[in-house]
Amino acid sequence: HVKERGRADFRFYQRQMNLGLLTRMKLDHAMREGLREQRFHLHYQPQVDLNSATLLGVEALIRWHDPELGEVPPGQFIPIAEETGLIVAIGNWVLDSAAAQASQWRRDGYRFTTAVNVSAYQFQQADFVERVADTLQRHQLPGEALELELTETFLIRDATEALRKLDALSALKVRMAIDDFGTGYSSLSYLKRFPIHKLKIDRSFIHDVPGDEGAEGIVQAIINMAQALHLQVTAEGVETEAQRAFLSRAGCTQYQGYLFARPTAASDLAPMLPSPAQR
Ligand code: C2E
Ligand code: MG
Ligand code: MG
Ligand code: MG
Repeated sequence: HVKERGRADFRFYQRQMNLGLLTRMKLDHAMREGLREQRFHLHYQPQVDLNSATLLGVEALIRWHDPELGEVPPGQFIPIAEETGLIVAIGNWVLDSAAAQASQWRRDGYRFTTAVNVSAYQFQQADFVERVADTLQRHQLPGEALELELTETFLIRDATEALRKLDALSALKVRMAIDDFGTGYSSLSYLKRFPIHKLKIDRSFIHDVPGDEGAEGIVQAIINMAQALHLQVTAEGVETEAQRAFLSRAGCTQYQGYLFARPTAASDLAPMLPSPAQR
């Protein structure tokens, strides 16, 4: 009956696989429909000065409401869009929408940056830089108003090509941030070689400070390294005053997290915005 059991296991695995496939296909279909039917929208989360709480920038975060599936979190659908390649269309939509909003804020006299998450597969497209340049131009947005959040892992996948693209983006004055810093497997040498402006300390480390010696050490080391390399550093996922106070003592200058504000619609951001620059 070992054989019997093996067959049952196989059927079980096959069913699991089919379920996975079904969900993926269903989500893929729903995402395509969502793009057509304009069911995606962006929320924006403030990045603020750690000591004065002045708003310095915002991060655009995608939101998706499907009539059948309800609110689907990006952590669930972005990985599938990356697998199917739909992330390119979604990423282009995000870039365009965020640039339109950033351009509106510029026209209103605000001077903070808008950060956009970029997936590895999207960044690897041959026309990625051209797409960014075209987006800036169409929205008459200066490059320095846009920040791109990239993760460590794909910078080293094809370092030569990545460097070429980052240099081209830098020439456009676009700012580059490394997202979820500390969680990837990368050589630190790219920090010196690549035109990068900011490190975002992953929120898994912030979660454990103050109190956890390991996390405290890692956070302090990232801040020290950023200072030595003249990079800005933002702490992600700051939820408590104790975390903020620890980061302040550690020399961190910016944070993003529920302590200041959750991601929210652009229209709800108004009361948090700094006063417009003199026009
Ligand atoms: P991320 O880029 O690291 O974004 C930060 C995430 O942390 C967001 O989750 C945000 O809502 C959450 N967060 C912010 N402050 C706090 C806090 O104080 N506590 C906790 N527990 N969480 C906090 P969200 O919006 O669910 O996005 C998850 C991930 O999905 C993002 O992580 C990013 O990797 C991806 N993502 C979101 N929008 C986009 C997008 O437009 N394009 C791409 N390619 N990826 C996106
Ligand atoms: Mg991000
Ligand atoms: Mg992050
Ligand atoms: Mg992330």
